Amino acid sequence: MKLHGVGVGRGSAVGPILRMPEPLPAPEAAKHEGDAAAELALVKTALSNVADDLNARGAKAGGEAKDVLEAAALMAQDPSLIDDVKARIDAGTTGERAVFEAFGAFQDMLTSLGGYMAERATDLGDVSQRIIAALRGVPAPGIPESDVPFILVASDLAPADTALLDLDRVLALITRDGGPTSHTAILARSKSIPAIVGVTGALELTDGTIVVADAATGSVVTDPTAEQVAEVEEAIARRLAVASGPLTAGALADGTKIPLLANLGSPKEAAAAVALGAEGVGLFRTEFLFLDSKTAPTVAEQEAQYTELLAAFAGKKVVVRALDAGADKPLAFLNAEHEENPALGLRGLRALRAKEQLLRDQLTALVNAQNATEADLWVMAPMVADAGEAEYFVTLGKELGLKTVGVMAEVPSLAVLADQIAEVSDFVSIGTNDLTQYTMAADRMLGSVASYQDPWHPAVLRLVKLLGDAGALAGKPVGVCGEAAADPLLAVVLVGLGATTLSMTPAAIADVRAELAGVTLEEARAKAALALQARSAAEAREAASSVVVAEADVVVA
Ligand code: PEP
Ligand code: MG
Repeated sequence: MKLHGVGVGRGSAVGPILRMPEPLPAPEAAKHEGDAAAELALVKTALSNVADDLNARGAKAGGEAKDVLEAAALMAQDPSLIDDVKARIDAGTTGERAVFEAFGAFQDMLTSLGGYMAERATDLGDVSQRIIAALRGVPAPGIPESDVPFILVASDLAPADTALLDLDRVLALITRDGGPTSHTAILARSKSIPAIVGVTGALELTDGTIVVADAATGSVVTDPTAEQVAEVEEAIARRLAVASGPLTAGALADGTKIPLLANLGSPKEAAAAVALGAEGVGLFRTEFLFLDSKTAPTVAEQEAQYTELLAAFAGKKVVVRALDAGADKPLAFLNAEHEENPALGLRGLRALRAKEQLLRDQLTALVNAQNATEADLWVMAPMVADAGEAEYFVTLGKELGLKTVGVMAEVPSLAVLADQIAEVSDFVSIGTNDLTQYTMAADRMLGSVASYQDPWHPAVLRLVKLLGDAGALAGKPVGVCGEAAADPLLAVVLVGLGATTLSMTPAAIADVRAELAGVTLEEARAKAALALQARSAAEAREAASSVVVAEADVVVA
């Protein structure tokens, strides 16, 4: 049997599948036997056991996983949630049901806030399930334990699960839900695990079935033949050779340089990015530094962070993005108003203009960091709609002392006006995640429209071409920093459309470097030309893969 989904990356794996246990059924709306104090005592024991377990697992995992799990442990001990649980138990509800209702109400509230807050709602749901499991005396839901490596199959993965993935055990991920920019896909890319998301029928697979998961084709083949297994094992060995190859600069087979840069969200990620061969930073998401801040960060606070980042890249290019607040990444101090459609609201540069002092403070902090370090700092604005907005940002940045100032191309209007933008901006960086969302009118957070969120769509590629052509004509650099740049074959097409640099999660650099080294600029352009003529994302992908490239074998040999 062959199932299909959206592949993340180019990796493949073969092994037995193990399914994530299904969520526990909701506890019935029943009454307890009358002793509210005893019922509450049971719940409190469960809450503290769950918090201890999460903290212990965090301590074992370390790093980012530790932060995620400690935050979940805090949720299990949140005083306002415990008060709500107590009030429900006092009114006669069973402990299990009271936990379910109290956490559910809080989850609904977070979900209604959207974006980053809605993601925290998923975490809260996971904590609630763990408490209910503890009260029932059944195993907590989560990643199954196994002594042998396996391919994990799930409807989707909660951040608390993904933080704990044991990379020695989990060979690949297959999920029923999610699209190319979903949490699971981003995690898979950052950890270099092959993943196929949005696979219809995935949950019908039975534990222990041997499958071949191939991210390059987005396919899952059950009970493969010995020949198919041998093929995958060969491909895995070739990829390992690529990953451990020398960290050379990004270049095409004809020598055309395509610098490979890193997408980062904290200066702490700099060293790992350099170790993976990043030639600089193509997107530093400053809003990630302040997601939990209630008040605007000061110039000094920001300067310290930016200086730390730039110091790690002396002599290299570092592209920092001004705060991109709103929609999926709301900041309390910038996005106070409720909006029905935050993705179409006062976000990115629009929100910064509405609070210009905040923008001035950020740019001032960047100027100070620029002047104190040796890195080549470029600064860009998110969510820019036209040349007037681009000119506003570039002029302000230069007035304040920045050397290189540009804009992100995420709103289709900017691509349509690419020639005007090239006149006023030092550079353009294409954010294919949002550009795809807005071109296809498909919310990037919404699994039900995931099939539309495909940057391979010729409508998106044609906009990229407009930007590439305008940049080439004006002699201005055009980078790509959305998830699309991390897809090796698409990276080739983007270069064929005029991208001069590519920026991605550092774990993707090795694969992209290898793919680029196998094609000349002429071949990349030929692939791009075919993709532009396709009628769908799938056809574009197919067309680009169909161009035979003579040097390809040389790269992986
Ligand atoms: C993008 O939209 O492609 C992008 C790089 O920005 P973000 O994913 O942070 O919105
Ligand atoms: Mg964006």
